[in-house]
Amino acid sequence: MAAQAKTTLISLVGKPGSGKGTYGALLASRYRNLTFLSVGDVLRDSAKRNETLRRVLTSGKLVDDTIVNEAVIESLQEENLQQLKAQHSIDSDAKVFNDGGEHIILDGFPRTDAQTKLLSKWPSSLEPALAIYFDVPDDIVITKLLGRRKCTICGGNFNINGVEQDGWDMPPLLPKNGCKEKCDWDIHWEKRDDDTADIIKERMQVFRQETEPVLESWSDSNRLVTFVPYKGVKEMDRLAGVLENYFHKHSLT
Ligand SMILES: [Zn+2]
Repeated sequence: MAAQAKTTLISLVGKPGSGKGTYGALLASRYRNLTFLSVGDVLRDSAKRNETLRRVLTSGKLVDDTIVNEAVIESLQEENLQQLKAQHSIDSDAKVFNDGGEHIILDGFPRTDAQTKLLSKWPSSLEPALAIYFDVPDDIVITKLLGRRKCTICGGNFNINGVEQDGWDMPPLLPKNGCKEKCDWDIHWEKRDDDTADIIKERMQVFRQETEPVLESWSDSNRLVTFVPYKGVKEMDRLAGVLENYFHKHSLT
């Protein structure tokens, strides 16, 4: 008898500005049995109703592990996942990983050692399988963070800054359609509260202190793939290849 398919958790790890959220959403649009969960979005949403949480988020410091763990566990409830999935845009030619499972891409979790420990206690049906580390140098992520914009009308995410140096080729990420005509172009674009030079410096330091050790623990258990996205979103096929390769190796037959 074939083993029951597990829900595989794939964690995207990287400095703020490394693009992991963008890649996560694009991956989820390519595969029908993949749900994208941005822990940052979940926390920012809670912060609208919680002033203390809002202050922590805008300071660049990490949110308390207990709050993050609770938010993630709640988001992973079946009904919340279904709701999240309904908000994804799915490509018309989207594929299905053939292992029969439903899979989740977690952006921004686990980010600390304590969060990693929680992950290891999860039910065996939720398997933390793989972490993809987006390895991008500091100066590039800083340029990209300072260029991030969100349209308050259509919710589109853009980046007005491009990078072209040392093999890196990431043009600005501007709207292909819709926003320009419908929302009066960039009048309604806003920066995130935590995308300022001082707070970015704080977030880089937090990454080194708290998240780099997490990478080591994924690496020690042979579950870490390092991905260098030299050409930004043009690398999507190569990134999708990493996942397909993983699921091919672990497919249940
Ligand atoms: Zn817009």
